[in-house]
This record gives sequence, C-alpha cells and structure tokens, in this order.
Amino acid sequence: MKLILLGAPGAGKGTVAKILTTLDGSIQISTGDILRGAVQAGTDLGKEAEGYMNRGDLVPDSLIMGIMENRLQEDDCKNGFLLDGFPRTIPQAEDLNELLAKLDIKLDMVVNIDVPRDVIFDRLCTRRTCQNPECQAIYNTKSNPTKVDGICDKCGSPAIQRADETEEAIAHRLDTYNKKTAPLAGFYEKEGLLKTITGTSSDLVVDGIKKELGM
Ligand code: AMP
Repeated sequence: MKLILLGAPGAGKGTVAKILTTLDGSIQISTGDILRGAVQAGTDLGKEAEGYMNRGDLVPDSLIMGIMENRLQEDDCKNGFLLDGFPRTIPQAEDLNELLAKLDIKLDMVVNIDVPRDVIFDRLCTRRTCQNPECQAIYNTKSNPTKVDGICDKCGSPAIQRADETEEAIAHRLDTYNKKTAPLAGFYEKEGLLKTITGTSSDLVVDGIKKELGM
C-alpha cells in the first residue's frame, strides 16, 4: 500500500504505520525518525535541523524534500510505503505531487487520524522514545511502560523523553500543526484521496484502513 498518514503529533501515526508494515511488506518512512537519526549522528543535516526540532518548529521544506526525493527512490519502497510525518505543509504536498508524478507512483489514500487535543497532549507528555536511532521504539509511562524503568525493552538503550516533548514544546508543536499541517486535509480532500478516521485506538484505525483498502 502507498499511504500518507496525516494527524497531529501524538495521534498515533507511528504506531499505526508499524502495524501496517506487518501486513504487506510496505515500509514506514518517518521524517521525524530520519531527522532524529541525523541529529544523533551529528551529520550536516542533523546540525541544521536540531534547533528547529528542539523548539517544536518545522525544519525548512527544502531540507525535507531533499531527504524524501532520495528516500522514495530506494529499492525498499517498491512494495509500498507509509509516509509518517510527511508532508507537513502545503508546499511539501505540492512538491510531493510533482515527485510522485516524476517517479510514476500513485497514492492509494491519505488517512487523517483525528484524535482530541487533550488526549494528544496527555500522550505526548508521557511518551518515551528509544534513543537508539536504529530502534526508536515508543513507550508510554502510563499505558505502555518499559519493563525496566527508562530502558528500551527491544534493544536495551535508554528510552527517554524527547527534547521536543516538554509541555512548552508540545503546545508549540500542536499550534504549528494547526496552522501549517491541518490544511493538508482540505488539500487531499480536493484530490479525492482523503479518509478521516476518528479514534484513539490504533487497532481500530488500522481496521478502518484495511476496510477502505478492501483487505
Ligand atoms: P515527528 O517525530 O514527526 O513529530 O517530527 C519531529 C520534528 O521533526 C518535528 O517537530 C519537526 O521539527 C521535524 N519534522 C519532521 N517531519 C517534518 C516535515 N515533514 N517537515 C518539517 N519538519 C519536520
């Protein structure tokens, strides 16, 4: 499947994407994961992106498009992909349309995962993320804690609160989402690709997606 997952930070895009990858060999492409990996590795991209990310601002469209243009042409995208956290602005969506046309790729659907703001705020404040760039497993101190406090169950690396998951940065990220990313729902509605699924359970969101795709 070739999907875009839209939704505020904390709506469950990453969790839904991970479940979907087990169904048909599609891969998850998370621009947030790619950028965090670059920050940890100390690459030029990471150095450029870090300040924006820690403040909860979006990194410039040109940086993101550079990443995605290469990523979508890698071999593992051939079986399908789930775009998680991209596009995040109208210019990114327009550029993505051009890129997909150039690569002769057609999207199946754009899924807008709609979750109430108070649920999202609470989820993000209690979220913990594995620091290992190869893993980046997600936990929650309330609903899905690590077995050993602060240690990733999967790889044993520290599972930490992200720098952009302080209350202040979260509030800013949600405002940025409302201003810059929420308008993408209208953009894809006009293209006839949008399906909005309201729900706080990732399993139910996945069921809704499978139904839409006739799986
Ligand atoms: P995420 O893990 O998707 O919440 O992304 C974490 C941070 O990475 C965001 O707050 C942005 O600073 C940056 N980021 C990720 N994806 C994008 C994107 N498509 N456009 C701009 N910035 C992004």
